[in-house]
Amino acid sequence: MALGEFDLIEKYFRPPVRRAALGGGDDCALLMPTPGMQLAISTDLLVEGRHFLSTVAPERLGHKALAVNLSDLAACGAEPLAFTLALSLPRADAGFLAPFAEGLLALAEQHEIELIGGDTTAGPLTITITVFGQVPPGQALLRSGARAGDDLWVSGCLGDARLALEVFRGRAELAGEAFSAVREAMERPQPRVALGLALRGVASAAIDLSDGLLGDLAHIRQRSGVGATLWLDALPRSEALEAQPDALRRECLLAGGDDYELLFCAPPDRADAVRAAGLASGTPVTRIGRIEPASAGLKVYAEAHGHEPLDLAGFAGFDHFKR
Ligand code: ADP
Ligand code: MG
Repeated sequence: MALGEFDLIEKYFRPPVRRAALGGGDDCALLMPTPGMQLAISTDLLVEGRHFLSTVAPERLGHKALAVNLSDLAACGAEPLAFTLALSLPRADAGFLAPFAEGLLALAEQHEIELIGGDTTAGPLTITITVFGQVPPGQALLRSGARAGDDLWVSGCLGDARLALEVFRGRAELAGEAFSAVREAMERPQPRVALGLALRGVASAAIDLSDGLLGDLAHIRQRSGVGATLWLDALPRSEALEAQPDALRRECLLAGGDDYELLFCAPPDRADAVRAAGLASGTPVTRIGRIEPASAGLKVYAEAHGHEPLDLAGFAGFDHFKR
């Protein structure tokens, strides 16, 4: 027999809470942030066919839905506290709900963050999560803090999620472990929460990479009123991506979305502090360029091109309404 709305919520989405003053089950949840802290709030919506393929395992989908939200808290240097889940789904199917909740709550547990409420309705599969975090006043990392002369850094590796997507699209071929690894990057991103926290007081600006390096760098450039220089050869990449043809590799590195790495800036005299933050959080960090005055625009250099910057036409960031 199919589960009803309230049975479904009770069964899968009502974990006991320890930190929140009140979890799900009433008209509101109640949070008790540490006194004096600012609340950091972010929402991300995932729609089937747009943000994920119908082939993704429900456990991974649950993980990713929360991961992309935690990634936003990470980019602000906020400590995660709690989240809500608004779920629209075609059927109350235990075969989907059980592993979905498992993936979701496992990542929540890993970050000591609690599901405190939400909404559930029948409809096309969409998942909306809102995360709540806290940050000391004035210490949130913003997109607007970059200054000419800052170094530009990125965490982890770029482009693997896009490479996996291109394999699904039939544009690239990868088999065995190499494919599992890039597929995992696409379906099970690890939000860089610990790095974001370690970068408070170190980074001048930060953003998480969801729409591709150039697109997200454009947001920093716009909010900070700066230009930037990037070194293509310095962009960190996996062996699988390195082995791809030039054009595809470049596309994955510069415009591949869904990386959920942190792109951040710091004055050159904080380079050691950045490396220390990477070590302390167990996250690789790589210097990939420099922030320039706004008049310099954006230039990407590659050794193979000598002193001429690359032609970036066709490398816009992802925009849901411009495709
Ligand atoms: P209301 O009608 O007052 O908005 P609902 O009937 O939608 O309340 O939800 C009942 C309770 O279950 C609320 O506490 C709500 O936060 C919680 N809830 C509903 N859907 C979810 C969900 N997908 N995940 C977690 N909690 C949920
Ligand atoms: Mg409701």
